[in-house]
Amino acid sequence: MKEIQILDKTFTEFISEKEISDRIDMLAEQINNDYKGREVVFLGILNGAFLFAAELFKRINIKAKISFVKLASYEGTKSSGTIKELIGWNEDIKNQEIIVIEDIVDTGVTLERIVDELVIRKVSGIKVATLLFKPDAFTKKIPLHYIGFNIPNNFVIGFGLDYDGYARNLPSIYTLKNK
Ligand code: 5GP
Repeated sequence: MKEIQILDKTFTEFISEKEISDRIDMLAEQINNDYKGREVVFLGILNGAFLFAAELFKRINIKAKISFVKLASYEGTKSSGTIKELIGWNEDIKNQEIIVIEDIVDTGVTLERIVDELVIRKVSGIKVATLLFKPDAFTKKIPLHYIGFNIPNNFVIGFGLDYDGYARNLPSIYTLKNK
């Protein structure tokens, strides 16, 4: 069993590079079929989704564009505390079919924020592709159309996902080692 130490924690390999690659092949095939003859804009959510977005997008053969946005936290001037704002929009996405690309959907709070913004921007359709999904942590009712892997509610790293900024470059996915 492959193990890796990142800062103060030990992680064990959970999903191999090959398993990830094979799964992304399948998701891309599904998307290529579902959107045959149509145009789509992929919207990758930074930072975590950059690797998944690149691997998925390479396999897409329909007419497609890709763009990235980031959720930035800043301290609000009101007592409400931290506000999350989506930054980096540079495409006019009105009337476009959108596929949101997420690295992981946990509670779904982040995804809800993104979907709300897409609705405001009057896109014509929204689907969601996520590499990982934690069904036990999900609190929203947003449909997820393309799921790589359903995983337990444990902390994972690698393939774009970080621990304190590190480990995004790991080619496979690791989970916290049981003590
Ligand atoms: P949500 O808003 O769905 O609760 O969480 C989404 C964000 O939390 C993800 O985009 C990711 O940045 C972070 N996150 C949630 N679960 C994990 C995890 O197991 N590992 C890592 N590295 N990040 C996570």
